[in-house]
Amino acid sequence: MANKVEPKTMEIVKEPEKVLRKKAADVPVADIVSPRIRGLIAAMKETLSHTPDGVGLAAPQVGESLRIFIVSEEAEEIDRAEKDGWKRRKEESPGKKENEPYEKRAWKYYVFINPVVKKISRKMLEDAEGCLSVPKKYGIVMRHEKITVEAYDEHGKKITRGSSRFFARVMQHELDHLEGTLFIDKMKSEIKSGDH
Ligand SMILES: [Zn+2]
Repeated sequence: MANKVEPKTMEIVKEPEKVLRKKAADVPVADIVSPRIRGLIAAMKETLSHTPDGVGLAAPQVGESLRIFIVSEEAEEIDRAEKDGWKRRKEESPGKKENEPYEKRAWKYYVFINPVVKKISRKMLEDAEGCLSVPKKYGIVMRHEKITVEAYDEHGKKITRGSSRFFARVMQHELDHLEGTLFIDKMKSEIKSGDH
């Protein structure tokens, strides 16, 4: 009998919990496919899928000080929508709201384990950012436009991922979590609700 265990959601750790400020440890490569790490990744995906505004999640945010983060393919969709022109998308689907330029669906998640930055652009871009561990706070953060990361995927396979713009921003935000850094440490200015 196939007894499929449904992954559980985990509680998202909030600032100022200490685990968010610790440098996370590498996952031994042989452990990547272990039930413990597989279970953790499944639970992280489940947790992120239940947050309407989250596009990335790092293991310390669920209380595990390990070098693992996941990024939703929604981040790619946001880049694609921006490139296409959000306006045009809206005209094509007049029923959609301004802030919903694309169809919400069951997103896939990219998994990055023991990530190492291989290349980073000199050019920086500034944009608004928030974090599931710092609720209701938003600020302007400078990030590199492009970044290339080498990591292991959830099957223990080495992967290289180049990214730019929003996806690159999410990657840098998640990489910071593994160092115990939060976006509030880097933000140039806070966006007060009511400012927009
Ligand atoms: Zn965060």
